[in-house]
Amino acid sequence: MHYDANLLDQVAVALRKAALNEDAKAYLLANKELNALFKKGAKRYLGGDNLQELLPAVKGLNARGFACATDFMGESIRKEAEANEATEEFLRLCAGIKEQGLNSSISLDLSHIGLIVDKELATHNLSRICEAAGEVVISAEGIDRTDSIHEIYKSLSAKYPHLCITVQAYLHRTKNDLQELQKLPNKIRLVKGAYDVPEHDAHKRGQQLNKVYLDYVHGLLSSNHACSIATHDGAIHEGVKEMLLTIRPDKEKYEFESLLGIENDRLAALKDEGHRCRIYVVYGQEWYLYLMNRVAEYPLSIFQVLLDIMS
Ligand SMILES: Cc1cc2nc3c(=O)[nH]c(=O)nc-3n(C[C@H](O)[C@H](O)[C@H](O)COP(=O)(O)OP(=O)(O)OC[C@H]3O[C@@H](n4cnc5c(N)ncnc54)[C@H](O)[C@@H]3O)c2cc1C
Repeated sequence: MHYDANLLDQVAVALRKAALNEDAKAYLLANKELNALFKKGAKRYLGGDNLQELLPAVKGLNARGFACATDFMGESIRKEAEANEATEEFLRLCAGIKEQGLNSSISLDLSHIGLIVDKELATHNLSRICEAAGEVVISAEGIDRTDSIHEIYKSLSAKYPHLCITVQAYLHRTKNDLQELQKLPNKIRLVKGAYDVPEHDAHKRGQQLNKVYLDYVHGLLSSNHACSIATHDGAIHEGVKEMLLTIRPDKEKYEFESLLGIENDRLAALKDEGHRCRIYVVYGQEWYLYLMNRVAEYPLSIFQVLLDIMS
C-alpha cells in the first residue's frame, strides 16, 4: 500500500498530543453522546469495564487456546491513596484469576501503583501483587521512568522469579539494558516502544528498527532466555520463524504476544502452527488514553475505529 509516511507521522504526533490533552479528555468523557460513540470505537480493544466483564472474556480466550495478560488500565497516578486503590484492584484481579482457574498473567504500569509518588510505595505495592499473582509483567513507560523501573525490577526479581520486565527495542539504551537484564533468568517482553522520545534516544519505526528487534530476539532465543515477542508485525513474525528453524529454544521459553483487537487472526495462525501465544487484555475506565495511544502508534487504524463507531 502506498501512503504518505510524513503525513502519518504528523497525524501520530497530533493524536498523541490530543491523547494527553486533559481538557479534550474531560470534554469528551463529560459529553454523553461523544463518550458513547468513542467508547464504541474503543470496544474491540477492551476486555470490559470491570472485573465482572473481564473474567469471562479471559475465559473465552483461554478456551480458544490463548494465554492472557490482563491489565487494569491506568498510569501516572500522583496520589498515594489512588495508587493503593489501584493495587487493591490488581489484588482482586489476582484473586479472580485464581478462583476461576484462568491462564493469565498480570501486566501493570509501575506509575499506576505509586512510582511517581514514591519509589518505596511502588516497590511495596508491587511486592503485594507478586505475592498474590502467578506471573507479573512490568510495562515499559516513558524514557524518564526507565531507570526507576529497572531499579525496582532488579530489587525484586530474585525474590520473585515470576516477575518479568518489558523492554522497548526502539530505545538505543536497550542494547546495554538487555545485557544486564539477561543476567537474570526472569522473562523479558520485547516491544517496539509506544512513547514519544527525543529523536537522538530512539530508532525510528521501519526496517532499521525491525532489524534491531530481530537481533534482540536472536540473542534471547539463542541463549534460551524466557521471552515474549510482543509485536503485531508480520515481517518480524516471519523473521522469528526462520530463526526457529536453526535455533531450537525450548518451546515453553518463548511466546508471541499481541494486544486484544489487533491482528489477532495472525496470532491465531501462529498458535495453530504450534507456538505459544498470549493476548494482552485491558479493562477499566481509562479507555480514552488507551484508544488514543493505539491510534497514535498506527494512525491508519482510525478507519477501523470509525467503522466500529458507525456499525
Ligand atoms: C503485549 C504487548 C505489550 C506492550 N507493552 C508495551 C509497553 O509496556 N510499553 C510500550 O512502550 N509499548 C508497549 N506495547 C506497544 C508497542 O510498543 C507498539 O507500540 C505496538 O505493539 C505497535 O507496534 P508493533 O510492534 O505492532 O509494530 P508496528 O510496526 O507499529 O505495526 C505492525 C503491524 O501491526 C498492525 N498494527 C500495529 N499497531 C496497530 C494498531 N494500533 N491498530 C491496528 N493495527 C496495528 C498493523 O498491521 C501494522 O502494519 C506493547 C505491545 C504489545 C503487543
